[in-house]
Amino acid sequence: MKYNYIIAIDGPAGSGKSTIARLVAKMLGILYIDSGAMYRAMTLYMIENHLLNTTQKLLQKHLNKIKITFINKKNKQLIFLNNKNVTNEIRSSKVTMCVSKVSAIGVVRKELVKRQKKLGQHNSIIMDGRDIGTTVFKNANLKIYLTASAYIRAKRRKLDLKKISEKANIKDLVTQIQNRDNYDSSRAISPLSKAQDAIVIDSSNLSIEEVLEKIIFFLPTTDSMSI
Ligand code: C5P
Repeated sequence: MKYNYIIAIDGPAGSGKSTIARLVAKMLGILYIDSGAMYRAMTLYMIENHLLNTTQKLLQKHLNKIKITFINKKNKQLIFLNNKNVTNEIRSSKVTMCVSKVSAIGVVRKELVKRQKKLGQHNSIIMDGRDIGTTVFKNANLKIYLTASAYIRAKRRKLDLKKISEKANIKDLVTQIQNRDNYDSSRAISPLSKAQDAIVIDSSNLSIEEVLEKIIFFLPTTDSMSI
């Protein structure tokens, strides 16, 4: 790649953003950042330090003590919180239940958006989340809004939970997903919403390959090559 470019993928929980973003990153050889993992790591820190009900003023004092590191190993992205591998822990139900509440806190968003923007300063990057196209990278070269029905998303979540040995039934997961969607879309600061210039893809009835194909079609063109 000769020039830096930014791809933003937003959408509700379980719409397949991370899977797709990881594949696009690999294909283009660019950096992939899962911004949801940052909010999840922050939530885990707050649970462990009994900060869930604290004031923003007190919380602010903790922010510079929170180091979040992404390490790419083979096909997996590992997440470290203050040098501890928390890749699986941040996906647990314990964290999922609190993450939307934490992500609605002003000082938390301000800090994480600052760190996300910094990552995009010197790298071609694909980042997925809820406010990437609307707030973090308003000038992204390509913005995708990936969605899917709540039932399909619950089925995907069940599979994810199985990987970390947690069980759940689909009905409860649909309710949890809808609650999280409502919370994320109605919060005061950078709610989940589609950027005006985003391309909408509904992945309910599409395979991963089909979603990927659609995205490839919209990728910014690079230099042509003759062989
Ligand atoms: O993407 P994932 O489902 O892991 O994100 C977990 C939560 O983090 C979301 O439900 C949302 O509350 C929050 N989040 C956010 N802004 C982002 C990414 C995630 O508020 N850019």
